[in-house]
Amino acid sequence: MPFRSAIVKLTAVCNIDCSYCYMFNQADRTYTRVPPKMPIDLALRLLDRICAYHPRHAADAFSIVLHGGEPLLWNEEHLLTWLDAVDEHRRAGWNLDVAIQTNLVRPLSPRVADALQRMGIRLGISLDGPRTLNDAARVDHLGRGTYDRVMENVARLIADGHEALLGGFLSVANTAIAPHAYLDWVASLPVRRVDVLWPIEYHWRNPPWGILPRADYERTPRIGRWYGKLFTAWWERDDPGIHIRLFSNLVDLALGARSHVDALVNDTYDMFVVNTDGSYEYPDYLRAAGDGSCRTAFDVTQHGIEALHADPGFARLLALRDELPQACNGCRHRAVCGGGFLPGRADPERFLSSQPSVLCADQMHFFDTALRTIRDAISHRGDHASLDTAGCLPA
Ligand code: SF4
Repeated sequence: MPFRSAIVKLTAVCNIDCSYCYMFNQADRTYTRVPPKMPIDLALRLLDRICAYHPRHAADAFSIVLHGGEPLLWNEEHLLTWLDAVDEHRRAGWNLDVAIQTNLVRPLSPRVADALQRMGIRLGISLDGPRTLNDAARVDHLGRGTYDRVMENVARLIADGHEALLGGFLSVANTAIAPHAYLDWVASLPVRRVDVLWPIEYHWRNPPWGILPRADYERTPRIGRWYGKLFTAWWERDDPGIHIRLFSNLVDLALGARSHVDALVNDTYDMFVVNTDGSYEYPDYLRAAGDGSCRTAFDVTQHGIEALHADPGFARLLALRDELPQACNGCRHRAVCGGGFLPGRADPERFLSSQPSVLCADQMHFFDTALRTIRDAISHRGDHASLDTAGCLPA
């Protein structure tokens, strides 16, 4: 199983200070030990490494996500130089898909916006919902909310003819907002494409039930119930203009599709992270579990990407289907959940727990609700009931 994706930390600094941030405000302190910004030589070397690894003219793109910290705090000339290098590699036949995940609190310069648009590179913009809710967690270093600045910069991009840069918005699930209110907010956005990320901070050292008895939490799993209600509200609204990536992807999977987002199926994690010092790291999903929990012995200067296959941690992540917890074997959602989204399976002592995710009850509730809804809709349509459902739909 090859790697297909790299998350590139152009910076280990950020212009805002989100309370839940796994880079700066959880257990991992790696950012204190690496350079604040990746040197341009290293970023170019990484691109060469990727192109040495990923076959030229491959039908499938290798996905590169520029990340941080805040990637748009990287030196602008460096970014333009690096984008030129991507352009050259693409012209020489490499299928490279590049995206940028940004907080967009700072406006994009016209030069960078033009270059991104010309190259078909889109922005994922982090925003957690309506202003009050977003600004409760996504604040700058003076504690001020960031919502208005982000939306001003979105409006500016649209006014300047750069709407094509807006890939969508990425929210971290927050049960403090009513699912209907979240959906109303999505409907009001200039680009109605969002994804709702399962919280990353919960793992076996920090379970969602906290100090309460686990059984009490699992009877009414707060996060899973929120997702279930959001799915139902989205389904009932029946507006194809509102795209929630996790939900659309679940529908596709239920109808037999193979590709899926990270939070579904959990059969392989074919991505690696590169930090500002050039170190290859495990996916950010494991970062909250402990200080240094993503570090490996490999770095871009000394090692090509093929060397990562010899690393036991990467080998386990690439073959995650072999790590299915025993307790999941008889589960009705095994095909679509596969033991649970990776962060909830992190165990600082064993790397990955042999138990199901700490969000098992949440995921179970969500899949029960969503897949039942899909199944009922299919069975009410007669002929469509015979579609191949890949074993995902409950009887
Ligand atoms: S819902 Fe729970 S038991 Fe079922 S596959 Fe997911 S983690 Fe395992």
